[in-house]
Amino acid sequence: ARVPLVAGNWKMNFDHLEATYFVQKLAWLLRDAHFDYRHCEVALMPTFTSIRSVQVLVEADNLKIRYGAQAVSVTTQGAFTGDVSADMLSQLGCSYVIVGHSERRKYHPEDDANIVDQVRATLTAGMQPILCVGESSEEHRQGIELDFAVGQVHDVTRDLNEEEAARLIIAYEPVWAIGTGQVATPQSAQEASKAMRDDLRETFGPHVAQTVRVLYGGSVTSKNAMQMISQPDVDGFLVGGASLDAEEFARISRLT
Ligand code: 13P
Repeated sequence: ARVPLVAGNWKMNFDHLEATYFVQKLAWLLRDAHFDYRHCEVALMPTFTSIRSVQVLVEADNLKIRYGAQAVSVTTQGAFTGDVSADMLSQLGCSYVIVGHSERRKYHPEDDANIVDQVRATLTAGMQPILCVGESSEEHRQGIELDFAVGQVHDVTRDLNEEEAARLIIAYEPVWAIGTGQVATPQSAQEASKAMRDDLRETFGPHVAQTVRVLYGGSVTSKNAMQMISQPDVDGFLVGGASLDAEEFARISRLT
């Protein structure tokens, strides 16, 4: 069975001191025997400037909390001002990289080709990409969200081999649900997750389809997480706003 993942996407919030405080608080909130990190992976995605602080704390206290980055360079080194390479991230102990978040697609020139390269760079450095897909309100209105999300995954992953595809994590994040308080229904999250899994099965076979975790993202809170995670094809969450509150984030992790 797939181990659920609850990943907090902090976006551009928390400096390294606030990040340190948060990690300590979260570890304390999840310290009791009722919470088992083997049954729910918990991950934080800080800004680049906070990753080292999170690493130091995780290593010093031997914490089970994992962490990753919100984007990565498609090149390995050289004259690319402002970029951070996948090797640099993996050397800081990152497990994951968020790739193709709708905010990156909107505010940065991240098209499918760039996203394919980020996925590849992440995999090559031994980390797992969390590939974000999901329809905007326009596609939602037209009722073509399933084809849209499946198409996005398909376009980015079709050139991967089976071993690479098995290491993917997908986050289904309808753009209209991000930061709006408008959460998708559990049924529609299930439908989309299942459609993407079916497509993975067709492209890569049963092992990949059974292994890849499909997260839901978009206005997740402790109030709606329970119904969502009881869907058979929803394997966890990519949490934005609610991941900035340690207590709320711990509650979501416990429900999962
Ligand atoms: P919110 O949880 O704030 O809606 O953000 C979701 C998101 O974009 C996670 O990547």
